[in-house]
Amino acid sequence: MPDVPLRSNLELDDATMRHMARRVADLVVDHLGSLRDQPAQQSLSRHDTESLIAGPPSMDGRDFENLIAFLQERVFPYHAREPHPHFMGYIPSSPTFPAVVGDWLAAGYNFFAGVWSVASGPNQIELTVLDWFRSWLGMPAGTGGLLTSGGSTATLTGVVAARHAADPAGENTHQLTLYTSEQAHSSVQRAAWIAGIPRINVRSVATDDSYRLRDELLRTAISDDRAAGFIPFLVVASAGTTNTGAVDPLNAIADICAGERLWMHVDAAYAGFAALTPHGAAALDGLGRADSVTLDPHKWLFVPFECGCLLAREPRKLEEAFSVHPEYLTDVRARDQDVNFADHGEQLTRSSHALKIWLSLQYFGVSQIREAIARGIHRAEYAERLFAAHRDFEILSPAQFGVVCFRAHPPGVDDAAELDELNERINTRVNATGRFLISSTKLRGRFSLRLCTQVHRMTDADIDEVYEAIVEALRRET
Ligand SMILES: *Cc1c(COP(=O)(O)O)cnc(C)c1O
Repeated sequence: MPDVPLRSNLELDDATMRHMARRVADLVVDHLGSLRDQPAQQSLSRHDTESLIAGPPSMDGRDFENLIAFLQERVFPYHAREPHPHFMGYIPSSPTFPAVVGDWLAAGYNFFAGVWSVASGPNQIELTVLDWFRSWLGMPAGTGGLLTSGGSTATLTGVVAARHAADPAGENTHQLTLYTSEQAHSSVQRAAWIAGIPRINVRSVATDDSYRLRDELLRTAISDDRAAGFIPFLVVASAGTTNTGAVDPLNAIADICAGERLWMHVDAAYAGFAALTPHGAAALDGLGRADSVTLDPHKWLFVPFECGCLLAREPRKLEEAFSVHPEYLTDVRARDQDVNFADHGEQLTRSSHALKIWLSLQYFGVSQIREAIARGIHRAEYAERLFAAHRDFEILSPAQFGVVCFRAHPPGVDDAAELDELNERINTRVNATGRFLISSTKLRGRFSLRLCTQVHRMTDADIDEVYEAIVEALRRET
């Protein structure tokens, strides 16, 4: 059989692989090193990207340099640079380089982190990282969980586990009711829907002047529902809302959940890692009492997409909700203390997200990461001071966990619609420069400008710059 090839037609020789890897490493390092000289965002319409990029795949292969050039010219420019020091919108992700490299390693080795025996080394890294997290949040030893693709998936996993614990046979799902605040992240509602909780059974509890869930209203809602024949099963509290960074009264909610025998989940995707700082730990007091917690390492732990985390006080409850044992997986059942992460959530095949976290944390040390988080918190406080001191601006929600909400409100302009439009135009004007990415929100119906200052590259000088750009935008509007 002379024409049977001796090696895979897809396997490259070492020199070619090294060349490609170095080329890509250089590209990424050049990109990160020149962020300040790049726009914070650039976008095209679908119509324009299609004519630039779309087309059939190559039939016989193309030169690597040619492909890289294509990507660099036509694809990579058109994105919002999350790690940019002027990315101040939404909740940005600004990974450390060791974390990026951790993802490269995970892909290069292609670990299968679904079952223990197939990747026991990397799986132990995941258990180790989860144990760090639970100790930072003050959760008890024995707490487990898993890393997920993001915060949404983590919350979904927690909601499914809570639903299963409340209704193992799935006979009463239509009566189950879930409670969260009107400021909760949209992923909570979607998790409930996916978990099969009827949409009308998702209760949205009103918040106080500081956008925190009102626990006395929670209490009333639960007892009204019980009286009406519903089965309350879960409260999802927020530890750092996306809008304002508000933290629900965690201890009061934990007391209610304990008294009513409800599962308490805390969505700490946004602010959870602030628990590393003394100020954050105080503000998040009570978080450790939760049955389960959502964290988002791809936000404030400075690792690249994708990486969320679900912690569960009793990991056994995850297993009860998720494990199935088909014949073709008999060989890889977990033994003794081994953990099959596939039994803790939705995914069977999953990559090792833990490596990037471990590499970044071990490289810098916890104190450096803590300092980067603390600086992000201080930058928002600095921004608040600047805008509070300007007579044409007012603070709508003070700085909390690196987010501050404010609006232009020049003396004499008091019409609500006029103020909304003015601020909307300021937002558009600042973003249209491409120099900054800021985002807006609505607070009590008022259009609000919003800065999120978590990107680790950002300095106070960047806050000065965006302040000047916003003041200038107002000047041009009036
Ligand atoms: C970002 C965020 C989420 C969603 O997390 P993803 O990682 O985007 O899925 C959920 N809750 C809060 C409070 C968040 O800030």
